Amino acid sequence: MVLQGILGAVCISIFSVFALVSMPETKIFFQRTEITEAVTEESTYIYEEQNTVTEVTTEEISSVPKSSGKIVVIDPGHQRVGNSEQEPIGPGATETKNKVTYGTEGVKSGIAEYELNLSVSLKLKDKLENMGYTVILTRENNDVDISNMERAEIANNVNADAFVRIHADDSENSEVKGAMTICQTPSNPYNGGLHKESYALSEAVLNNIVSATGAEKRNVWQTDTMSGINWAKVPCTIVEMGFMSNHEEDMLLATEDYQYKMAEGIAKGIDEYLRNKE
Ligand SMILES: [Zn+2]
Repeated sequence: MVLQGILGAVCISIFSVFALVSMPETKIFFQRTEITEAVTEESTYIYEEQNTVTEVTTEEISSVPKSSGKIVVIDPGHQRVGNSEQEPIGPGATETKNKVTYGTEGVKSGIAEYELNLSVSLKLKDKLENMGYTVILTRENNDVDISNMERAEIANNVNADAFVRIHADDSENSEVKGAMTICQTPSNPYNGGLHKESYALSEAVLNNIVSATGAEKRNVWQTDTMSGINWAKVPCTIVEMGFMSNHEEDMLLATEDYQYKMAEGIAKGIDEYLRNKE
């Protein structure tokens, strides 16, 4: 059945490539606006589209409910004005951290991290909604004042299936680049029991970012120093999309094209994690 599906999808793809070459107007079925890309890219894209269609028609009952009803909370990191008031780094903690920091900015693009994070988060929201997920953003503009603890509580209050925090990185070494995700350690005193789930989410998202964008793969950093992770009662990851301190990566992150690829990679990672969780 699976083989038939794949063969069918491949056949349809081959047909579609011919159709695309001979009748350029057929591209409308695939919502494709560019016809200048290489045929190999077109065929890959069509294969994915057709595969999706095949899935819906042959496994309608099992595939649709997989994502429907599941809730993803996306937290676009930071905000226009940071808040240095203190809050505990986890439930019952005496150690405190700033409620929300300013974040970094592009060394060459000049874009603020909070702007980049929101821009990618909005694209990610669209992609996940198209997959059938219910998506809640912790903020939809830059002029807010929401602490890291409060952001986690938004995810807790809706019992989110995944809480995904979007950030970009910086380093004193301008050579450093690449993507990383972050989760708690197994011995986290606040929510170590969520480590396995959070690690699986972090790993799936990182792998899919690398596939979608070609970014250098760094690692899943396991740490108990992040308030927004420590307060979470649901599986959580922080996505560090790339380094705004690296000229090349900063300029890539600033482009709409790369942001769409990034959003696609993150969405695929979340979807992979949630499907495997079933
Ligand atoms: Zn950040």
